[in-house]
Amino acid sequence: MSVSENRSITLVGGGLVGSLLATGLARRGFDVELLERRPDMRKSQHSAGRSINLAVSARGIHALRELGLADEVLSRGIPMKGRIMHSPSGELTYQPYGVEDWQCIYSISRGELNKQLLTAAERTGRVQVEFESRLKSTRLQAAGVELELDSGDGSPVRRLKRARVIGTDGSASALRRATLDRASGHCTEDLLDYGYKELTILPGRNGEFRMDRNALHIWPRGNFMLIALPNFDGSFTCTLFLPYEGELSFARLTNPAEVRGFFETHFADTLPLIDDLEGTFFANPTGHMVTVRCSTWHAGSESLLLGDAAHAIVPFFGQGMNSGFEDCTEFFAALDSGLAWKDLFSHMSRTRVDNANAIAQMAIENFLEMRDRVGDAQFLREKALEKRLQIRYPLDYISRYSLVSFSRVPYTVALEAGIKQAGFLRSVCEPGLDPAQMDIEALGPRILAEIAPVTRTHLPEGLKP
Ligand SMILES: Cc1cc2nc3c(=O)[nH]c(=O)nc-3n(C[C@H](O)[C@H](O)[C@H](O)COP(=O)(O)OP(=O)(O)OC[C@H]3O[C@@H](n4cnc5c(N)ncnc54)[C@H](O)[C@@H]3O)c2cc1C
Repeated sequence: MSVSENRSITLVGGGLVGSLLATGLARRGFDVELLERRPDMRKSQHSAGRSINLAVSARGIHALRELGLADEVLSRGIPMKGRIMHSPSGELTYQPYGVEDWQCIYSISRGELNKQLLTAAERTGRVQVEFESRLKSTRLQAAGVELELDSGDGSPVRRLKRARVIGTDGSASALRRATLDRASGHCTEDLLDYGYKELTILPGRNGEFRMDRNALHIWPRGNFMLIALPNFDGSFTCTLFLPYEGELSFARLTNPAEVRGFFETHFADTLPLIDDLEGTFFANPTGHMVTVRCSTWHAGSESLLLGDAAHAIVPFFGQGMNSGFEDCTEFFAALDSGLAWKDLFSHMSRTRVDNANAIAQMAIENFLEMRDRVGDAQFLREKALEKRLQIRYPLDYISRYSLVSFSRVPYTVALEAGIKQAGFLRSVCEPGLDPAQMDIEALGPRILAEIAPVTRTHLPEGLKP
């Protein structure tokens, strides 16, 4: 059946990706039923989930822009132009993310964004959001999809029969198993042996930011780290990433004195800033992080997974939501080309699985980089040289970070470019060499031969704002 013959669709999960997808479908004339487990966050005090703020970059901004929502969202975002590393003795090192002023990522409130997207979806007049509707089980058959729902409060189970369903129900997706079983697919769910804990730096007395507001702050400590992102109200949300077990781990921080001692030793400069350290530490849950890789994202024309439901990744490249929004961009482009449901769903598996696996890998690599390397002298030398190369060869040397965050080239291309760039930087940036003094004209032929070909066909004119 072609898409135009059936204009209604059911989505499970009204988080970031589900509500964006619902809006785009409704704008194309679909009637959307959006089933969401939680109560309406616009009416309740319920927080919108795990991290309080997140970084939106080119792929996410593009998806928002296509729906005319980018200006509204970014008007309450804080541009972050680079990262500031805090050494154990409190020294600061700044590393810009890009080489031009527009090359920044934006810190935005996750809860506000989710609310804005739900409102945008409802504003279309075609999206019916059913809150407190939790998918419990699914039967997928060629004849249709049977969904079993409850409200999570012990009330009777509701049963629905629909032609097809799209799962945007996050990393612990209730639709994933049924979809993969029906498609004879498989998936892996790798839990990182690190947890995270959120803490807060409140604004100053006059509402001012108490650290540089236009940067992502990192306290890299080898095996663990703390980061902080600015919020619109002058506060910062800090996230401590720490192993669950071991010498320095959550398991060893069992009382207020241990937490204070740990911060005094490793993050002393944050102690005057963090609000109610011990109280918040024990009040906030320890979050976990998982990488989900699925061999396929769809089953026939009945079921499709998008966003974290299909490809949850660890948060260290700030790309989970961005890649989920990019799924929507790809979905809408394929939908607009007139594909039948089955072809549309299989198109998504065909075009997105490898890209999702590529950003999953880069996110793990970035974890190691942020945790271990950002304070390391060799790494800083390589980054300093890379910056010079980007300025001198803007069409031919575009760093992996820039490809991921400031462009929409496939993640697979960014991964390949990154491998070549890392090898190149390592080979030329010998210990003891000052990157500021290196003859970068002499490196031109190698850049043209080894680095440029990977990205030239995708970005013939280099990065554009
Ligand atoms: C610490 C941390 C920091 C992060 N930082 C960034 C960042 O800086 N940039 C970035 O791009 N990404 C970031 N991410 C990743 C980002 O949060 C996710 O990729 C994004 O939220 C995925 O959106 P989603 O809609 O697919 O899933 P979710 O946002 O998880 O939404 C899923 C929705 O489905 C609902 N649901 C779940 N189960 C059911 C069910 N059975 N029935 C009905 N409804 C259900 C949930 O209530 C929820 O509303 C971060 C993640 C973490 C953990």
